[in-house]
Amino acid sequence: MKRLGIVGGGQLGRMLALAAAPLGVRCRVLEPGHEPSAAVAAEVVPLGYDDLAGLEKLAQDVDVVTFEFENVPADSVAWLGAHVPVYPSAAALATAQDRADEKALFSRLGIPIPPMRLVSSEADLHVAVIEIGSPAVLKTRRLGYDGKGQVVLHSPDDAAGAWAAIGAAPAILEAFVAFDRELSIVSVRGRDGAMAFYPITENHHRDGILRMSLAPAPGWTIELQRQAEALARKVLETLQYVGVLAIELFQIGDSLMANEMAPRVHNSGHWTQDGAVTSQFENHVRAVLGWPLGDTAARGACAMINLIGSAPSHADALRLNGTHLHLYDKAPRPGRKLGHINVCAADEAERQDLIARIEALIHPTPTEES
Ligand code: AMP
Repeated sequence: MKRLGIVGGGQLGRMLALAAAPLGVRCRVLEPGHEPSAAVAAEVVPLGYDDLAGLEKLAQDVDVVTFEFENVPADSVAWLGAHVPVYPSAAALATAQDRADEKALFSRLGIPIPPMRLVSSEADLHVAVIEIGSPAVLKTRRLGYDGKGQVVLHSPDDAAGAWAAIGAAPAILEAFVAFDRELSIVSVRGRDGAMAFYPITENHHRDGILRMSLAPAPGWTIELQRQAEALARKVLETLQYVGVLAIELFQIGDSLMANEMAPRVHNSGHWTQDGAVTSQFENHVRAVLGWPLGDTAARGACAMINLIGSAPSHADALRLNGTHLHLYDKAPRPGRKLGHINVCAADEAERQDLIARIEALIHPTPTEES
């Protein structure tokens, strides 16, 4: 029997642990939050991510430690790395924690990114918005997620307000990209260097939060897939990466631009639980434990719809053939991801039909958008 330690016990930790169980892998999560989502499938160490006693308990007798989120304190990663194999590596995690480092890596590898400037002060921002032009997006270098720590400047006059809005934190200013659509590529690399790539996924966001993913992306072509794989491969190889890595992309015409990467299993890969031969969660477990990777092919025309703020009743959700309900055991709260529904259809027409039926079940409450 193998043991896997996971920093973080939210829904990603839960789904990793649920995928690990059939492989005979026991999971332990470090999670200070109340009633963690992962508790259903993992032993919980109820201490902080930077608590030495917690890190010691997490690392005790486990074969490997991994993460379900990227903003793990650097000191904790360093401590863990000195006691137990840690995948993805501290270096990969550090790069993904800082938007400037991430963009520098993409640039160094020849991966297209939006024009950008580093911003360390309001004065920098005034210069940067003239150079980049407007609209432009100001993003904190660290700790941004789901559109948080971001603000759009519509003109140079917005600079002072935008700088205050992100809390005067070190940031980047990025050109606003008039993309045709957003895509992601979820990839995985094993300890032996083997790599596998899921079909590119089309992602729909609202208010900075992922609402729906379609995979394979509508209008999927081998050229687009190869383009996405080529840039993911460069990142995986350069970082000697181990585990699942997601890269969010903008498509403009036939070209792709990198937005950001997530050094972990990713919301745009949840469809793989029911729609791929091997899920992203199982493949992450396989990768970090040094086992062969599983087939990443899609089983059909798939989709994932997030349940945000509220969820339909079981009676309604389970009535739809070809769909799969995944709940996270989380109390409803406005804007909170409570679960998702996966769609596995035979073709595009059936996919659209099932999505329409699910959408009809989801009635956003007025507070959800607040
Ligand atoms: P991020 O946190 O960087 O993934 O940004 C969240 C969402 O904001 C993205 O999924 C896009 O929908 C939007 N966004 C981010 N950066 C840009 C940009 N440079 N131009 C246009 N939209 C953007």
